[in-house]
Amino acid sequence: MRSEAIVETGRQLTGPEVTRYARHVLIPGVGIEGQERLVASKVLVVGAGGLGSPALLYLAAAGVGTIGIVDTDVVELTNLHRQVVHSDTDIGRPKTESAEAAVHRVNPHVNVIRHDVRLDSGNALDVIRDYDVVVDGTDNFPTRYLVNDACVMLGKPHVWGSILRFDGQVSVWWAGHGPCYRCVFPQPPPPGSVPSCAEGGVFGVLCAAIGSVQSTEAIKLLLGIGEPLTGRLLVHDALRQTWDSLTVRADPDCPVCGTHPTVTELIDYVEFCGVPGAPAAGEEPVPSVTVHQTAEALAAQEPPLLVDVRGEEERAIAAIPGAVPIHLDLFRSGAAFRELPRDRRILIHCKVGGRSAEATRLALRAGYTDVANVEGGIIAWIEQIDPTQTPY
Ligand SMILES: [Zn+2]
Repeated sequence: MRSEAIVETGRQLTGPEVTRYARHVLIPGVGIEGQERLVASKVLVVGAGGLGSPALLYLAAAGVGTIGIVDTDVVELTNLHRQVVHSDTDIGRPKTESAEAAVHRVNPHVNVIRHDVRLDSGNALDVIRDYDVVVDGTDNFPTRYLVNDACVMLGKPHVWGSILRFDGQVSVWWAGHGPCYRCVFPQPPPPGSVPSCAEGGVFGVLCAAIGSVQSTEAIKLLLGIGEPLTGRLLVHDALRQTWDSLTVRADPDCPVCGTHPTVTELIDYVEFCGVPGAPAAGEEPVPSVTVHQTAEALAAQEPPLLVDVRGEEERAIAAIPGAVPIHLDLFRSGAAFRELPRDRRILIHCKVGGRSAEATRLALRAGYTDVANVEGGIIAWIEQIDPTQTPY
């Protein structure tokens, strides 16, 4: 089956290009013409991380003529178990720079455009507009909804992937040809309910499985071959080594791609997705203390109760001495309040302060009055109080 190619063929291939891409050119259905399409095509990869890494390498190797890379992060040690475009010597370097170098090692003829910007509703349309296909490898909900809405408004197909622990999902969203992301996921999950890879961990090699499906789909769309993954959501379980294909449909009432759209321009996606522990209407922000104030309080005559709401695996890496583990889930279920004293000051911490802000908020709602969130969590504690512990 052949879908419609979304890229016109451009200039003719040079002799060395025919040789470089010979094993593509030999495939019936790709040929010289298909390779000329790839060389003329432009793909934007949002996020030079776990999913972006294999996608970038294969798009470059395949001869995609122009590859845009969006990222504002710098390479960190915790990235290297899965983000294979970056290496040990890149730590501290902007990811776009390191990813560009990796792309050029694979194929120096690719035109790389670095977008060292955080995509937001003010710049997304301008960044995405010139590309043929968008590969979304981001790890946060506000950017996913932003990329989706911008692609719907611009009529672009967008190849989305998502990973956590041993599980991955991948699909092609393309309004007019199938559902968009919002048709299938109309509402973001409650803030904080889905752990990020930084909180929950991710099986590094899973990125190769999902990111390579994303680049496969992008290249198929550019060539106009096969059946794109529009209208199908692939769900991968690396532990069972299964790939389930779910049929997903466009929603005529979708607020962005439906027949009567209510979202006709880009919105504030951080607000739309919410912030864990954020105050509801009429509520004050949760009280907070710094890690220095926490250290002082813990050393005082009558120290507060310090509660750690992180998971067991995180506590095994680093922990504040004396902290009592009570998982965030027990705050959500209310079970935590059966054991938390009401006559003692309580300080709550997590990794960086988001989950503990939610726990603090829940404690306030449960009637606790002397409770505060430890700003910056154990990562701030390690940076400012106890550098002998291991950050993660
Ligand atoms: Zn939709």
